[in-house]
Amino acid sequence: MTVRVRFAPSPTGYLHVGGARSALFNWLFARKMGGKFLVRIEDTDQSRYNEQALHDLIRDLKWLGLNWDEGPEVGGPHEPYYQSRRLDLYKRHADELLANGHAYRCFCTAERMDEVRKRQEENKLPPGYDRHCRDLDPAESDRRAAAGETFVVRFKAPMTGKTVFNDLVRGEIEYQNHVLDDLVLLKTDGFPTYHLANVVDDHAMEITHVLRGDEWIPSTPRHVLLYKAFGWDPPVFCHLPVILAPGGGKLSKRKGAVSVGEYREKGYLPHALFNFLALLGWSPGDEREKMTLQELVDSFSLERVNPKSAAFDETKLEWLNGQYLIETPAQDLYDEVRRLLEQRGYGPDLAAMPEMLAKHVGLLKDRSKRIDELVDTGLYFWREPDSYEEKALAKHWKPETKDRMAKLAAKLGGVEWNHAALEALYRSEAEEQGIKFADLIHPTRLAVSGLSFGPGLFELLEALGREAVMRRIGTALEKLGG
Ligand code: GLU
Repeated sequence: MTVRVRFAPSPTGYLHVGGARSALFNWLFARKMGGKFLVRIEDTDQSRYNEQALHDLIRDLKWLGLNWDEGPEVGGPHEPYYQSRRLDLYKRHADELLANGHAYRCFCTAERMDEVRKRQEENKLPPGYDRHCRDLDPAESDRRAAAGETFVVRFKAPMTGKTVFNDLVRGEIEYQNHVLDDLVLLKTDGFPTYHLANVVDDHAMEITHVLRGDEWIPSTPRHVLLYKAFGWDPPVFCHLPVILAPGGGKLSKRKGAVSVGEYREKGYLPHALFNFLALLGWSPGDEREKMTLQELVDSFSLERVNPKSAAFDETKLEWLNGQYLIETPAQDLYDEVRRLLEQRGYGPDLAAMPEMLAKHVGLLKDRSKRIDELVDTGLYFWREPDSYEEKALAKHWKPETKDRMAKLAAKLGGVEWNHAALEALYRSEAEEQGIKFADLIHPTRLAVSGLSFGPGLFELLEALGREAVMRRIGTALEKLGG
């Protein structure tokens, strides 16, 4: 048997990290098993369809490196991979269930459904369809349909007994059939509901394993009943644990970023996010955390998916990202750094000093956890600082600093401009003035960068160039005085 798995997003909004984790587990499982990974677009809810969301979704999946074997853009033997283009198929299957008595037409109007709901609320009964049309005479049902009355097609769920299925993560799960209502399969507009389209397509596309978030567990017994009604074998189900915010509770925008797009924007590397998501609800069974793609594929197994909820610990993601930044060649970061600099209004500076990009990235890459941090803590590579860190000023810019720095500055014009020569000059100057090396270092860093931290000072001075350094020290002497 060839493993065939799918990620089946509904293009209604951004790619949530939970969705990305589902996609990623499917991808890892397919790669591990030598199977196929499909992407199927579940776009049957016309009211929530969003073209931009579809575009972003595809971009974000690609960015993460989750290439698919069948699906949008690449096609495949089960085309089309957009549910909105497969309506006939669902209609045919709904008709089949109507014909064999596993489904019925429901002519109840929205008004009637409102009344039912109201009555249920008043009587404190669980909500759900009251099965009013379930036992309508088939001939009468045909007649009303032919007369043009609008209807939905509902599943005739069994009212007794129970439905049991096995979940690879949670084991046996059991539902009493009477709690599963007669769900709608086909809507009045002829579009299928998620349930019908999902089951029909998983069967048609020969999906062997359904790996998805555990919010879909309550849908699964209904799907199992549908498989049975069609006379098909259901796939293996594997529901992935929910991802919670650190400290518990739902992941929410308030507590941090929730979409893959935001993490890209914030300057995370795709491999870091990939590695991090792989460890949400799964572990290789040893202490390893930073793992290559190949290592992840090799050690992945569904048996090691943890049923306990997983915490989204952004500090760990940052740490991982920092590790990946260190090993990423500087030039691989140029495009992204350029993009962020342009976004911050530094386009003209980039154009004027193209050689500065390599220096900026080279000197800050290993000291940064994220690309946006690399960019934002190095803006002084491009422009004179327009302010100086207050605390550092109070500590390092003393009344005597102006004199000391002025004496030093007078010598900067004649020194050979490389970090070794600069360091030698600073040492001899400190000795000559009878002060500490640090008494020149800290004020210089503040003057040229406005900050109290950064790369090695002499490498930084070398990178900025003689002219910029002398000008900036001059500005600081003027602005800060003694
Ligand atoms: N379209 C559903 C979603 O948006 C798919 C759920 C499933 O994988 O069955 O998540």
